[in-house]
Amino acid sequence: MKYTLPQLPYVYNALEPYIDARTMEIHHAKHHQGYVDKLNTVLEKYPDLREKPLEDLLRSLNDLGVDEKDRTAIRNHGGGHLNHSLFWQIMGPKKEQGEALVSEIEKTFGSVDEFKKLFSEVAATHFGSGWAWLTRNEAGKLLLYSLPNQDSPYLKNHTPIIGLDIWEHAYYLKYQNRRPEYIEAWWNVLKLI
Ligand code: MN
Repeated sequence: MKYTLPQLPYVYNALEPYIDARTMEIHHAKHHQGYVDKLNTVLEKYPDLREKPLEDLLRSLNDLGVDEKDRTAIRNHGGGHLNHSLFWQIMGPKKEQGEALVSEIEKTFGSVDEFKKLFSEVAATHFGSGWAWLTRNEAGKLLLYSLPNQDSPYLKNHTPIIGLDIWEHAYYLKYQNRRPEYIEAWWNVLKLI
């Protein structure tokens, strides 16, 4: 199986004015496409791995029987593909809040506002490229943390729920070095809460 770039569930300018159309287009058609292409290239050598769910490859990355260079490529480009696929889905021009998730966030973090404050701090203070994550661990508990590069929460056997891309390619055209402004604006296009 070859991986393909998923279509966006909305048009490139749908998240304006919070995320501009040009950023969305480059991010989706160039950056995400790049992860897909490089993932396909590395997996050409491993037909058996191409048949397995990508989440499983990341969960068992150290047991795949591939050399270190290819393991790193699967980690980076497989993570890049999964992370961005989720990112497009959780955003949208209209809120579609999930009651269950909201009440779980309230139970875990006290309130949605408190959660947003903590998540924004994690995203703003992460050094360099990476993602801020709300995930669920094997016991079902919600966890908040950041990971570098394109590392996926599946590497830790956690299931990602909300991820915010804090690579400069996600915001630089509109916000330049003002990452906190991008984070603040992004809550408007996160449809889940
Ligand atoms: Mn990105």
